[in-house]
Order: sequence, then C-alpha cells, then structure tokens
Amino acid sequence: MKFIITVDTEADNEWQRLDKIKVENIKFLPRFQALCEKYEFKPTYLLTYDVASDKESVSILKPWQDSGQAEIGAHLHPWSNPPMTKERSWETKHHRFPHDLSEDELKSKMETLTNVIKDNFQIMPKSFRAGRWGFDKRVAKEITRLNYLVDCSITPKIDWTRTKGDPNGQGGKNFKHYQVAPYFLDIDNISKVGKNNLLEVPMTVLFTLLFKKEDTSLSNFFLGLPDSFFKKVINKLFFGQKWLRVFPNSKMKDWQRIYESAKKNNLPVMEFMIHSSELMPGGSPYAKDHQSVEFVYQQIEDLFKFLKKQGLQGRTLSEFYYDFK
Ligand SMILES: [Zn+2]
Repeated sequence: MKFIITVDTEADNEWQRLDKIKVENIKFLPRFQALCEKYEFKPTYLLTYDVASDKESVSILKPWQDSGQAEIGAHLHPWSNPPMTKERSWETKHHRFPHDLSEDELKSKMETLTNVIKDNFQIMPKSFRAGRWGFDKRVAKEITRLNYLVDCSITPKIDWTRTKGDPNGQGGKNFKHYQVAPYFLDIDNISKVGKNNLLEVPMTVLFTLLFKKEDTSLSNFFLGLPDSFFKKVINKLFFGQKWLRVFPNSKMKDWQRIYESAKKNNLPVMEFMIHSSELMPGGSPYAKDHQSVEFVYQQIEDLFKFLKKQGLQGRTLSEFYYDFK
C-alpha cells in the first residue's frame, strides 16, 4: 500500500474572514518537512495563490521540490486568487467554491494560479485540490485543459450541500456515494470511472468499526440516511466513519483502525491531509496554541511510525499517478 501526504498550503486563519492575508504559517513548515523525511515520506504541498506568490514562502518550499523531497501542486481559493472579478470585500466575505465561479472566472483564476507556480517554481504543477472541496465536472475539465494529472478534491461519504459559498449558489457538493479507491474519471460524470486522463485520488474517509466493508447494501443504506441523532448513534456503534486527518480527539487507535479498514477494502493507497496553518500556534481553529500544535505533531508522528512499520511506501500525488497508470 502507498501513503500520500497532502498539505493544503494556504494563508493563516482561512476560517476567519480576515481582510489582511498573512502566510506566516509557512515559516513553521520545515519541522513538518523534516518529520516526513525522517520516515521517508514525501509530502505534496498544494499551494494557494497567496503562498505561491510570496517570495519568502517560495524560498522555503522550492528547495524541497528541487531536491525531490516534495511535490508542489495547486490549491484554488477563489476568494484571494486574482483576478478579483467581484468586489474584494464580497469575495472575502463569501468564500465561493471553485464550482460557484462562472466559466470565465474559473478559467482566469486557474490560469493565474498555474502561471504563478510555473514562474516561481519552474515546474508545471500536476496535482490539484479545490478549495473547500468545491469540485465538479467543470472544474475537472478546466484542470484537464491545463494539463493537471491528479485531483484530490473528493471526500467520499461527506455531503457539503449545507455549507454555503456563493449566497446565490447551490452550496457545496455531495460526495456521499463516491468511491474511496482512486480512479480515472469520467469527465461528464465525475462520480463514475471513465477514460479521462485525470486521476482522482479521493481523501481517505472510511468506516472503521464492525461494518468496514465499502459499497455494500448496508453501507449504502447507512450513507443514504438523513442526518439525525439516530444516525449518529449507529455510526458510533457500528460504522465509525473516520477521515485520515488529525482532530483534537484523534487517538492512536484511529490510525490503526483506518489502516485495517483500508487493508480490508484492498485500497492501493491511503491519503492524509492537513492545512499548513494547523502547524502554527493560533494559525487555525484546529490548533489554537503551542500545546495543540504539539498534540498535532504527536499524532502525526504516531501515524507515520505506525504506517512505516506496516510497510507503506510514500508517494507524492503525481508519483502515484505514474504508479497507478
Ligand atoms: Zn484550502
């Protein structure tokens, strides 16, 4: 089994609607990079425009790419990615999903993002993640046009439709019944396996308790249930749905269970994600202070150590693409 580490490499405190964008958290990344190297795992840093256009951030990240210790990809946050097509204060307030953008906006923002990475890192980015998981067939087509090879914007089992982007939009996407294993997309129906050149490597979100098996009539029935207290209880007792992410209540047991489930479902890969800002004290709601950052590091090290012991091999997103192909 392969192991992919993805880092949404973005501004500080994206959850607050700050007027002034800061990328201080990038200065905290060397510790994370060193930890990945210690276990011979190679992270993929998915950069927003804010980070990719910041000289100091580039000087921190580029050497890792150049020495082959990491990959640089792209991460679209429409609300701070030029060209600003609406009033900046409006964009800042609403945090539109990439799929909320008009055809022209999507095209020009994606081109600007791709070009800033090209110019500052001297590479063609190959890997992509949509901000706020705002991914649909239009976004898939656009990144294909720009020669991206891998997307990792799909979160199986999760329904974001109640999350608001554009106040007049449809909200987030519903990925409830999307498959967990990587697949080449059908560009006209991204939930289906097809012949497009774009590889989807979904976030690892698995059931980890008694009913671990993916895509059974039982698991599909459970996923189809509307949110309720009853569903929460059933989940807690029998399904144990978990993301491969660090949360304030994460435990060693979670990592073991997620791995067991990935094995049981014959997954060729596990994909971990973290926001770069989670690694700076006060950089995100996930890690408010020094102590919580230490907790995050402890969890990550437990996970890395455990997966290394199980023999997982690290891959960046585009390395995985060539393996999979
Ligand atoms: Zn983001």
